[in-house]
Amino acid sequence: MRLFNFAAGPATLPLEVLEQAKNELLDWQGSGMSVMEVSHRSKAFVAVAERAESDLRELMGIPAQNKVLFLQGGATGQFTAIPQNLTTSESVVDYINTGTWSKKAIVEAKRFCKVNVLADEAASNYSTVPVASSLKPTPGAAYVHYTPNETIGGVEFPYVPDSGGAPLVADMSSTILSRPIDVSRFGLIYAGAQKNIGPSGLVVVIVREDLIGKARPGTPPIWDYAAMAKEGSMLNTPPTFGIYMAGLVFAWLKRQGGIEVIGERNRVKAEKLYAAIDGSGFYRSPVARECRSWMNVPFTVPNTDLEKVFCAEAGKVGLANLEGHRSVGGMRASIYNAMPIEGVDALIAFMGEFQRRHG
Ligand SMILES: *Cc1c(COP(=O)(O)O)cnc(C)c1O
Repeated sequence: MRLFNFAAGPATLPLEVLEQAKNELLDWQGSGMSVMEVSHRSKAFVAVAERAESDLRELMGIPAQNKVLFLQGGATGQFTAIPQNLTTSESVVDYINTGTWSKKAIVEAKRFCKVNVLADEAASNYSTVPVASSLKPTPGAAYVHYTPNETIGGVEFPYVPDSGGAPLVADMSSTILSRPIDVSRFGLIYAGAQKNIGPSGLVVVIVREDLIGKARPGTPPIWDYAAMAKEGSMLNTPPTFGIYMAGLVFAWLKRQGGIEVIGERNRVKAEKLYAAIDGSGFYRSPVARECRSWMNVPFTVPNTDLEKVFCAEAGKVGLANLEGHRSVGGMRASIYNAMPIEGVDALIAFMGEFQRRHG
């Protein structure tokens, strides 16, 4: 039986995509081999990679002057690669701290240049985002970095920060493709694949052409955007299966009607779940209303002893991986693009039933 998998990442993938991959696993496109066994330089695979890129461009409306790179090392690798590519030791960079992932990015950037923390939401225990007008970017900053969706805290920016003319850099790992965005407002977008794109092992970087070509000496070529762009992300052997799967997911998104349609579906899923939490008098969302994530929904029960019971009982009825992150506890339902509305409905029904028995 296939469960509803609420894991934060690696996360659920569309059933249609998994079935397609399964059907063509042993004999891909009549080659007599699986896609994992063909050369990344073969005509057939290069076509897959090119199609994945063009579909992503179409879905997100990526301007022609932006490079799309398929890299390895996850979003975590980019915490390092970004300052290596976009700064000198003299640079000042601005970071907005809204939680766990922002903090990790800041720690890395500090190894390379001066980091100014534009805003830090510690006072609310990272349950808020800063007021847009309070952000005062440093004049001449090499870039402004933020995390549009904090996967662990479930905090999502309802606005795009004004970077004061500096390139805006965004870790979109858990929000990419979940709603329409204006890519032209960003200097660099990066996203680990294992939330909304495909299997882990792949990270997508969308970077404005004028920002590349200035990597520091000593930057590993596989993380030097210019070197990778020049080679079509194939300076070394890319994660071919991941790129193939990402391509299937992009094609699936197009068949759903694109990001407008998916975004509307995500809004409905999230609003339903938050309404159930808020209306229960039992469950509670720790996140301020205006910045509640559409993708990662943390919630608590009145008594922490009930958390384990909740997750165990949910697991028994096919609702998997609802434990909150080990650093924060509670519960968390990740409801990415591939989570059908039926999964959210099943969770809400279970929550009601659990409350009747334990409330
Ligand atoms: C998951 C995640 C990461 C880390 O991704 P890795 O691929 O494990 O490096 C970084 N940032 C955000 C916002 C995430 O959700």
